Amino acid sequence: MTLTAEEMELGWVEFVCEKHGFLVAMTPRAVVWCKCGKQATRLRGGRVVDRDLKLTEAKARASNGSGKPSLHLCPDCQQDFGGGFIHKRHRVGTRGKSKRCLTSAEMRAKGWRLTKRGRWSLPRPNPSQEKGPQEA
Ligand SMILES: [Zn+2]
Ligand SMILES: [Zn+2]
Repeated sequence: MTLTAEEMELGWVEFVCEKHGFLVAMTPRAVVWCKCGKQATRLRGGRVVDRDLKLTEAKARASNGSGKPSLHLCPDCQQDFGGGFIHKRHRVGTRGKSKRCLTSAEMRAKGWRLTKRGRWSLPRPNPSQEKGPQEA
Protein backbone atom coordinates (compact mmCIF):
# COMPACT_ATOMS: atom_id res chain seq x y z
CA MET A 1 0.00 0.00 0.00
CA THR A 2 1.61 3.21 -1.18
CA LEU A 3 -1.24 5.64 -0.52
CA THR A 4 -1.16 7.87 2.51
CA ALA A 5 -4.28 8.15 4.68
CA GLU A 6 -4.87 11.62 3.23
CA GLU A 7 -4.69 10.34 -0.32
CA MET A 8 -7.09 7.49 0.49
CA GLU A 9 -9.51 10.05 1.88
CA LEU A 10 -9.34 12.01 -1.37
CA GLY A 11 -10.36 8.86 -3.20
CA TRP A 12 -7.05 8.68 -4.95
CA VAL A 13 -5.75 5.47 -6.40
CA GLU A 14 -2.29 4.17 -7.14
CA PHE A 15 -0.98 4.29 -10.67
CA VAL A 16 1.40 1.47 -11.36
CA CYS A 17 3.50 0.57 -14.37
CA GLU A 18 3.51 -3.16 -15.01
CA LYS A 19 7.26 -3.03 -15.44
CA HIS A 20 8.36 -0.21 -13.16
CA GLY A 21 5.95 -0.36 -10.27
CA PHE A 22 4.36 2.53 -8.41
CA LEU A 23 4.37 5.86 -10.24
CA VAL A 24 2.04 8.28 -8.51
CA ALA A 25 -1.11 8.60 -6.40
CA MET A 26 -3.80 10.55 -8.21
CA THR A 27 -7.51 10.91 -8.71
CA PRO A 28 -8.89 7.89 -10.58
CA ARG A 29 -9.99 10.22 -13.39
CA ALA A 30 -6.38 10.96 -14.28
CA VAL A 31 -4.52 9.15 -17.01
CA VAL A 32 -0.90 8.48 -16.13
CA TRP A 33 1.94 7.40 -18.33
CA CYS A 34 5.18 5.83 -17.22
CA LYS A 35 8.42 7.22 -18.62
CA CYS A 36 8.81 3.93 -20.47
CA GLY A 37 5.79 4.85 -22.59
CA LYS A 38 3.35 2.40 -21.03
CA GLN A 39 0.07 3.61 -19.60
CA ALA A 40 -0.16 3.06 -15.88
CA THR A 41 -2.74 0.71 -14.37
CA ARG A 42 -5.04 2.01 -11.64
CA LEU A 43 -4.89 0.13 -8.36
CA ARG A 44 -6.98 0.66 -5.28
CA GLY A 45 -5.81 -1.38 -2.33
CA GLY A 46 -3.81 -3.59 -4.66
CA ARG A 47 -6.74 -4.34 -6.95
CA VAL A 48 -7.08 -3.21 -10.54
CA VAL A 49 -9.73 -0.51 -10.76
CA ASP A 50 -10.24 -0.23 -14.49
CA ARG A 51 -8.67 -2.29 -17.22
CA ASP A 52 -10.41 -0.62 -20.16
CA LEU A 53 -8.55 2.66 -20.08
CA LYS A 54 -8.96 5.00 -22.97
CA LEU A 55 -5.81 6.53 -24.34
CA THR A 56 -5.46 10.28 -23.97
CA GLU A 57 -2.62 12.74 -24.23
CA ALA A 58 -2.88 13.65 -20.56
CA LYS A 59 0.37 13.60 -18.64
CA ALA A 60 0.87 12.75 -15.03
CA ARG A 61 0.54 15.72 -12.72
CA ALA A 62 2.79 16.38 -9.82
CA SER A 63 1.34 17.54 -6.53
CA ASN A 64 1.58 21.14 -5.45
CA GLY A 65 2.63 22.24 -1.98
CA SER A 66 -0.79 21.45 -0.53
CA GLY A 67 -0.80 17.91 -1.81
CA LYS A 68 -3.35 18.70 -4.50
CA PRO A 69 -2.63 17.87 -8.13
CA SER A 70 -0.99 20.83 -9.81
CA LEU A 71 -3.14 22.67 -12.33
CA HIS A 72 -0.80 25.29 -13.74
CA LEU A 73 2.51 24.59 -12.11
CA CYS A 74 5.28 27.02 -12.97
CA PRO A 75 8.48 25.10 -13.66
CA ASP A 76 10.56 28.09 -12.56
CA CYS A 77 9.11 29.12 -9.21
CA GLN A 78 7.24 25.86 -8.49
CA GLN A 79 4.08 27.82 -7.64
CA ASP A 80 0.72 26.42 -8.71
CA PHE A 81 -1.99 28.59 -10.21
CA GLY A 82 -5.77 28.29 -10.44
CA GLY A 83 -5.86 29.32 -14.11
CA GLY A 84 -3.79 29.93 -17.20
CA PHE A 85 -4.47 33.67 -17.07
CA ILE A 86 -3.03 34.23 -13.62
CA HIS A 87 -0.23 31.84 -14.45
CA LYS A 88 0.79 34.08 -17.37
CA ARG A 89 0.40 37.23 -15.31
CA HIS A 90 2.87 36.08 -12.66
CA ARG A 91 5.66 36.27 -15.24
CA VAL A 92 6.98 39.81 -15.43
CA GLY A 93 9.66 41.59 -17.39
CA THR A 94 10.08 42.12 -21.11
CA ARG A 95 11.22 39.39 -23.42
CA GLY A 96 14.95 38.97 -23.50
CA LYS A 97 15.32 41.15 -20.46
CA SER A 98 15.28 39.32 -17.16
CA LYS A 99 11.89 37.65 -17.43
CA ARG A 100 11.07 36.33 -14.01
CA CYS A 101 8.33 35.17 -11.68
CA LEU A 102 6.62 37.38 -9.14
CA THR A 103 7.53 36.52 -5.57
CA SER A 104 4.85 35.42 -3.08
CA ALA A 105 5.04 38.86 -1.48
CA GLU A 106 4.52 40.59 -4.82
CA MET A 107 1.55 38.37 -5.66
CA ARG A 108 0.00 39.07 -2.25
CA ALA A 109 0.54 42.80 -2.85
CA LYS A 110 -1.55 42.46 -6.03
CA GLY A 111 -4.37 41.01 -3.93
CA TRP A 112 -3.85 37.49 -5.18
CA ARG A 113 -4.44 34.78 -2.66
CA LEU A 114 -3.13 31.29 -2.12
CA THR A 115 -6.12 28.98 -1.81
CA LYS A 116 -6.44 26.02 0.52
CA ARG A 117 -5.72 23.87 -2.51
CA GLY A 118 -2.31 25.49 -2.78
CA ARG A 119 -3.10 27.47 -5.94
CA TRP A 120 -2.72 31.19 -6.50
CA SER A 121 -6.00 32.81 -7.50
CA LEU A 122 -7.18 36.26 -8.48
CA PRO A 123 -9.14 38.13 -5.81
CA ARG A 124 -12.90 37.79 -5.79
CA PRO A 125 -14.57 40.72 -7.55
CA ASN A 126 -15.37 43.51 -5.18
CA PRO A 127 -19.18 43.71 -4.86
CA SER A 128 -19.13 47.49 -4.52
CA GLN A 129 -17.36 47.77 -7.88
CA GLU A 130 -19.70 45.28 -9.54
CA LYS A 131 -22.78 47.40 -8.93
CA GLY A 132 -21.37 50.08 -11.18
CA PRO A 133 -22.00 53.79 -11.43
CA GLN A 134 -25.82 53.72 -11.54
CA GLU A 135 -25.79 53.39 -7.75
CA ALA A 136 -25.55 57.03 -6.69
ZN1 LIG B 1 7.28 1.78 -16.99
ZN1 LIG C 1 6.79 31.14 -11.85
